[in-house]
Amino acid sequence: MTDIPITVVIIEDEKPIRHFLSESLLDVGMQVFTAETGKQGLIEVATRKPDLIILDLGLPDMDGVTVIERLREWCELPVLVLSARTQETEKVRALDAGADDFLTKPFGVPECLARIRVLLRRHTRGQGAQQVIEFGQVKIDLVNRQVYKSDVPVHLTPIEYRLLTTLTRFPGKVLTHRELLKAVWGPSHSESSQYLRVYMGHLRQKLEVDPALPQHIVTETGVGYRLIGV
Ligand code: CA
Repeated sequence: MTDIPITVVIIEDEKPIRHFLSESLLDVGMQVFTAETGKQGLIEVATRKPDLIILDLGLPDMDGVTVIERLREWCELPVLVLSARTQETEKVRALDAGADDFLTKPFGVPECLARIRVLLRRHTRGQGAQQVIEFGQVKIDLVNRQVYKSDVPVHLTPIEYRLLTTLTRFPGKVLTHRELLKAVWGPSHSESSQYLRVYMGHLRQKLEVDPALPQHIVTETGVGYRLIGV
């Protein structure tokens, strides 16, 4: 019995990174196609129909954010963006435009593979009708809108609950400040990231074992938050 290999399109103009990434993914049995420009990358995605796209934000012909906007017009495939430390703003724009996660250069193979696994798992699992979500000692009963920590009911305000369930809809994914604010408070509050800090603090107080060292509700500095361990 042969498994169908996971197919990845890598869009990256820097040859050493393209090469190192391809080799690393081939080593774990994935099928890899590469492109050096945004335009070529879009063609590769359309023809190869991959399971996942790795996209560098600094491309010679096209802004990486534009590539994502074009992709999102016709495809929902997971997109992992690669950014340089000098591209913090582009990184957030890319996530807001629909990218699923990011890696900042330089990054290691294990981290890259771990991010890929999370994205693929979530994509396969889709938005199924899950009724109970668990992470660490926390259990969320979505049907009865009740949250438990170590089997003891926890009282959450409506905003805290909405924030938590927004995170649980995208386990492992980094959600930008803007995405979270829009989902919880609506589009008119998309600039008020101090709200988020306050409410994330409340959630950590109520749900984390050590709120000062959160294991599940994790800050991505300058970008947003992600829920891990689901
Ligand atoms: Ca580049």
